Amino acid sequence: MEHRATLIPGDGIGPEVTQAATRVVEAAGVQVNWERVEAGADVFVKYGTPLPDEVLNSIRTTGVALKGPIGTPIGGGFKSANVLLRQSLDLYACVRPIQTIPGVPSRYSDVDFVIVRENTEGLYSGLEHRVTAGVVESLKVVTETASLRIARYAFELAREQKRPSVAAIHKANIMKLSDGLFLECARRVARDYPEIELRELIIDNCAMQLVTRPEQFDVLLMDNLYGDILSDLGAGLVGGLGVVPGSNVGSECAVFEAVHGSAPDLAGQGKANPTAVIRSAAQLVAHLGEIKAAARIENAVVTALSDPAYQTGDLGGKATTSELTDAILHNLD
Ligand code: ATP
Repeated sequence: MEHRATLIPGDGIGPEVTQAATRVVEAAGVQVNWERVEAGADVFVKYGTPLPDEVLNSIRTTGVALKGPIGTPIGGGFKSANVLLRQSLDLYACVRPIQTIPGVPSRYSDVDFVIVRENTEGLYSGLEHRVTAGVVESLKVVTETASLRIARYAFELAREQKRPSVAAIHKANIMKLSDGLFLECARRVARDYPEIELRELIIDNCAMQLVTRPEQFDVLLMDNLYGDILSDLGAGLVGGLGVVPGSNVGSECAVFEAVHGSAPDLAGQGKANPTAVIRSAAQLVAHLGEIKAAARIENAVVTALSDPAYQTGDLGGKATTSELTDAILHNLD
């Protein structure tokens, strides 16, 4: 069966790592007719927007996309295309599995949790204004509707994956109304899942616990900003940004992308680790219903990475993007 999906190569290392991923998907025997569309910094120069309508329309039609990273200028410049994409398509759940990969150097050998991040509001609502000279306000928007649906997503995921607890991460001792509402919604949803324990952790304590005892966590439920920050922390626990995949899921569409950004320092040098985008592509393949092929890709990645000869620079090795990709292709049985 041939599937249709949108492909966004993205900026920086994006074109190199997404090309590696489409090669792996093809070699795994999954036929995908990729509809290639451009978004990002170069597109902004040409069209005045980093996210042309063509991109959104393509994803609305295919229902699924593999996306390379898109850089966002710091301070001024255009609005984040990543945030715009998630808000425009209402991709409300950002899901990032943080798992130890055997053979990949890291401090821990038994990390296995999933971050479920609210993807459409919070401090990423983009509502900022200058009140007067030297004073700005940035609005953190928390709604009951979005908080209930992300909490339900986290508990459903815990039930499906047979994970015993969901930890709601918050700072409701300081942001009593906004984080208070987020927490209250998690408590309400938790009542429908008596077999799953609801844990409540203040974000700063959670950060400390993650670096000292990460094995205690199963599902971590949090808002947009906390999820952004703790995803990178989580990546650091299992080998770094080069290996952690992710998905942005809504009720109509899903966009699969790595946790990492465009890594401009590595762009065009053949040094980027393609693992995170290849594993994101494996999740896309599973989403398309090709469960066995997805598992074969995941296994081939783990086998390739278990040999230090195929580890890229970010993992302490010397392999190039194509050497690691070829090793993964070789291990697809
Ligand atoms: P952006 O502005 O798009 O977020 P960035 O460079 O600020 O880009 P990231 O791309 O997320 O942030 O990564 C930070 C650093 O981590 C990179 O500069 C790079 O050195 C390293 N890195 C990220 N992704 C990879 C990868 N796939 N392979 C190797 N190194 C990576």
